[in-house]
Amino acid sequence: AAGAEALLTIDGVGKRFGGVAAVRDVSFSVADRSVVGLIGPNGSGKTTLLNIVNGVLAPDRGEIRLGGSATAGRRPSDLAALGLARTFQAARVFRTLTAMQNLFVPLLHQKALERRAAHRRAFDLLVFVGLERHADRVASELSGGQQRLLEFARTLVTRPRIVLMDEPFAGVHPQIKATLIRCIRETVSREGASFLIVSHEVPDLVAMSDRMVCLVEGAVAAWGAPADVVQEEKVIDGYLGR
Ligand code: ADP
Repeated sequence: AAGAEALLTIDGVGKRFGGVAAVRDVSFSVADRSVVGLIGPNGSGKTTLLNIVNGVLAPDRGEIRLGGSATAGRRPSDLAALGLARTFQAARVFRTLTAMQNLFVPLLHQKALERRAAHRRAFDLLVFVGLERHADRVASELSGGQQRLLEFARTLVTRPRIVLMDEPFAGVHPQIKATLIRCIRETVSREGASFLIVSHEVPDLVAMSDRMVCLVEGAVAAWGAPADVVQEEKVIDGYLGR
């Protein structure tokens, strides 16, 4: 129906690297205020797809729409301004800055008038992820899991509409993972943000996602409600089954 377009629409996207079809023909969408979990075996095209959505790579074919606008030709910085944020497999934090200073980095270009409110938000976000006691410690002194929480908080400072997350739970302590999952769901309900999350932690994704998509060999093997996706034959054969 008119006006019901998803926040992010991926439509017939394909990408080759020389002879390798990394992404063949992928279509799915991320609705407003939702979490979509993206699974699939190694080499199935998940990271390539995130790089295309993020504007790091241009697709060979297909279209991506963010908030109703085609993203073709837009760079990552343009897409960030449109509300698209991303976290990485290895958390990217500024190691020599304190936790609090890390959250100020995305605010450097804000006008002075807005800065006070923004700093307030930065501290609120540290509280949100449970790092307020570490506000004045340099990021390099934080554990890997804490750095991941810090990266997550920094991502939220500018109130993105959608956050792409690449393997957010890989190698993190179960307690930090639980915090991250809770924070993701609360960000959806409190701020109306959406998430597209690549992970091999299938049970966690099933529990936290509104929709799931499974890529096998660069194509969508299944898409829909998480409980249904993990029971699809193509998903079991192509990914979950050994
Ligand atoms: P996943 O994230 O699901 O593990 P990738 O998107 O990393 O999958 O890779 C999909 C396929 O594309 C793999 O066969 C991989 O080797 C290939 N590929 C990815 N990036 C490049 C690149 N820059 N150059 C050549 N081949 C690539």
